Amino acid sequence: MAYDSNNIFAKILRSEIPCEKIFEDDFALAFHDIHPQAPVHALVIPKGPYENYAAFAADASDEELIGFTRAVSEVVEMLGGSIKGGYRLIANCGAHGGQEVPHYHVHILGGKALGRMVADK
Ligand code: 5GP
Repeated sequence: MAYDSNNIFAKILRSEIPCEKIFEDDFALAFHDIHPQAPVHALVIPKGPYENYAAFAADASDEELIGFTRAVSEVVEMLGGSIKGGYRLIANCGAHGGQEVPHYHVHILGGKALGRMVADK
């Protein structure tokens, strides 16, 4: 499926809408989720036009793959004490994965014990 350059995260990347920025480098932008699901809820997005994890893994350059991976880690470092008890990384993909925004992103959640990985059936 073609990347939709009008998605909300593409608009944030173009500074068309604001975000509460945590970190930015050549490969990634990180900001706080507008509807946090935990005391700490950050999003890290690659700067390139990738709809989901599979598109990013297949189409991004080695430099982008490494840069993004290290950026996620950098954001974890920056969040530091607020997630000292641990954290969870989530990348929702597609309808069954619960993906709402079609620009690849990693959620960083923490600040409390998060419980089971997936809600009980
Ligand atoms: P998804 O369900 O696609 O994995 O997650 C998308 C996330 O983006 C949701 O947690 C949602 O709260 C967040 N989100 C949606 N629109 C905005 C926005 O305009 N600004 C910010 N900071 N987060 C947003």
